[in-house]
Amino acid sequence: MHLEDSYGRKIRDLRISVTDRCQFRCFYCLPNGEPPLARKDTILTFEEILRASRVFVRLGIEKIRLTGGEPMLRRDLEKLVKSLSELKSEGLKDIALTTNGFSIPAKAKLLKDSGLDRITISLDSLDPKNFEDITGVDKLGEVLEAIEAAREAGLEPIKANAVIVRGRNEHELADFARFARETGVSMRFIEFMPLDSGHGWKREMVVSGREIRDAIQREFPLELKKDSRGTETAWRYRFADGAPGEIGIIAPVTEMFCGQCSRIRLTADGQIRTCLFSTVEHDLREVIRGADSDEEIEEFIRAVTLTKEASHHINDTDFVQPERTMSFIGG
Ligand code: SAM
Ligand code: SF4
Repeated sequence: MHLEDSYGRKIRDLRISVTDRCQFRCFYCLPNGEPPLARKDTILTFEEILRASRVFVRLGIEKIRLTGGEPMLRRDLEKLVKSLSELKSEGLKDIALTTNGFSIPAKAKLLKDSGLDRITISLDSLDPKNFEDITGVDKLGEVLEAIEAAREAGLEPIKANAVIVRGRNEHELADFARFARETGVSMRFIEFMPLDSGHGWKREMVVSGREIRDAIQREFPLELKKDSRGTETAWRYRFADGAPGEIGIIAPVTEMFCGQCSRIRLTADGQIRTCLFSTVEHDLREVIRGADSDEEIEEFIRAVTLTKEASHHINDTDFVQPERTMSFIGG
C-alpha cells in the first residue's frame, strides 16, 4: 500500500510537530518568543498522534520525524517514541528527532532505549557569542554536550543543522566543516527560508547552496556522494581526502527539490500540511476526534494527499509567506 499525490510522488516521510513552544529565540524562526498559538485542548495527545501515525504507516509512511517548536519540551516524549516504535512491526523503518539539543544530555540514552533511531541537532554557530546572538540563548556548550551525549547513546549518524544567513554565520562555514571532520558528524547547511515569525526574511540574506559549497571547497575539497539526493532534501558530500564526517547542503530556495518531495506534515494541533509553504491546512484533529473507524482517517489522509502542491512559490514575485511559521509547522 502506498500514499501517492496527484503528481505521482510517493509520500513516505511524515514530520510531526509535537509542540509549537520553544525556549530558544532563533532570529530566523521565533525571534520574539511569541506565545504559543495553539490552546492546550487543540494539541494532539500522544494517543491521537499514535492513532494517526498507525494509519499513515498503514498507508506507506516509512519514516517519522518528531519536531516542533522544541519537541523535548513535550513532557515524556520518550513515551511517544516508544509507542511509535511498535509501528516498526507494521512497516515503519525509522524514527528521528530534530531538536535544539537542550535536554539531550539527560535524555539521549532513554530516547535510544525507547526506539529512537536518529537525531538532528541545531548548531548555528561554533562561537559562543555568535551562537547567543543567533539563538537568543547562551547555550553553545550544552548543545556541543548534546552532540556528544547522542553519540555515546548510539543515536548515529548524528546530523547537525545550521541555517546559513548572510552577515550572521557564513564566515563560519570552514569552521563548521572542520567540526564535521573532527567529530564525524554530518554537518548540514540550510538556506534561510521565509518562514520566520518576525517576517525579517529578505532574499539578500539567503546564502545560496552554491556559495556554501564553494566556500567549503576552498578549504576542503568535496566529492558528491553517489547515493546523494533521491527523495532526500540534501546534497551530501564526503571530504575528498577521506576525512570522517559529511557535508549536506539543503537549498530549497535556489535549488528547489519539490519534484522529489516525499514529505507530509502534521502540526501540533493536528493540521495536515502538504507543503512547508502551504497556505491551506487540513483538519485531521477533527477527523480523529470524530472518527469511529480508522478507515475514515485513512480516507481523509488519502484525499488530502491528492491536494499536495506541485511546488513552492518562494521565487515568484507574488509569493506570500504562510501565516504559520517554522516553529509551528515543524522544520
Ligand atoms: N527546535 C528544534 C530545532 O531547532 O532543531 C526543532 C524545530 S526547528 C523549527 C527545525 C529546523 O528548522 C531547525 O534545524 C531550524 O534550524 C530550521 N529552521 C527554522 N526556521 C528556519 C528558516 N526560516 N529557514 C530555514 N530553516 C529554518
Ligand atoms: Fe526553537 Fe528550533 Fe525555532 Fe530555534 S529553530 S526557535 S530552537 S524551534
